[in-house]
Amino acid sequence: MQTRPLEDRFGRVASDLRVSLTDRCNLRCNYCMPAEGLDWLPTDEVLTDDEVVRLVRIGVQMLGVREVRYTGGEPLIRRGLVGIVGQVHALDPTVEQSITTNALGLQRNAAALAAAGLARVNVSLDTVRRETFLEITRRDRFDDVVAGLAAADAAGLGPVKVNAVLLRGTNDDQAAELLGWCLERGYELRFIEQMPLDAQHGWSREGMITADEIFARLAEKFTLTPAVEPRGSAPAEKFLVDGGPGTVGVIASVTRPFCGDCDRVRLTADGQVRNCLFARHESDLRTALRSGATDEEIADRWVVAMGTKAAGHGIDDVTFLQPDRPMSAIGG
Ligand code: SAM
Repeated sequence: MQTRPLEDRFGRVASDLRVSLTDRCNLRCNYCMPAEGLDWLPTDEVLTDDEVVRLVRIGVQMLGVREVRYTGGEPLIRRGLVGIVGQVHALDPTVEQSITTNALGLQRNAAALAAAGLARVNVSLDTVRRETFLEITRRDRFDDVVAGLAAADAAGLGPVKVNAVLLRGTNDDQAAELLGWCLERGYELRFIEQMPLDAQHGWSREGMITADEIFARLAEKFTLTPAVEPRGSAPAEKFLVDGGPGTVGVIASVTRPFCGDCDRVRLTADGQVRNCLFARHESDLRTALRSGATDEEIADRWVVAMGTKAAGHGIDDVTFLQPDRPMSAIGG
């Protein structure tokens, strides 16, 4: 089978595929979506398990994809998740599969996911205070997340990574507390700068907590030194905490963009390729899939879709326009 890279016009090659398995979520994080939720995709527009596996197969076997991260919405609410992971593992066990999840239900599924071939989990957790968790997510499920994290660790889905977003006036005073909690449990914490991807369009540059503020907050309790390992295409800048071995990462997508090293491509739950989280254009693979296109034809479309990838996301540019779809629909 012919392999060609998913290369854009700036020479970046995408080998890390983010697959959104659903736009639905069982939390309502206030910086992501409104309390009442969103107009979810109609079921018949969402790719079936077989369609997902076919596109991943094309990505892996024909286009050089080496990592697959399932996301959403909440990927654990997709019934076929274990089966999808198992099928992808069977077609190429060297492809690293992971999920980005809020960990609700992970306690139940962690062992099955590990057995199917899942390598790692990234769990989103913005606070270790139950009341702040309820305030942010609008659901009283903190204990389930803690249990999900422990189950993932026990199932060997590690190193378990925790992703956190700091929100001014809500949890920005809790950065060091969250880091201490993660270090105690051996979880790798990464702070992510809040990006203009909320359904409510409430993000503002002034309102977001910057990487510099995160460092200042952490410095109140910890000493950070840059980790020596090369960053490569990893979005997180990594630091040793108090000399190590514990680490913390900061993903400064807004104030220190890393677009030049981006190796990601995204597939939405309804089968659209997005060459950037902030792309304003999508390429429809679902219609091709459902109208009898061959693997070659689908691969061709995918390659063409990558060609238009912009040099950078341009959040700091005056002409920046927030994408039409929010993070939960694109796949975070
Ligand atoms: N439900 C899964 C989860 O909670 O990880 C996957 C989807 S969620 C959209 C993925 C990640 O995006 C979460 O870590 C969440 O905190 C983050 N996120 C959502 N909106 C964001 C925003 N506007 N800026 C930065 N990160 C955001």
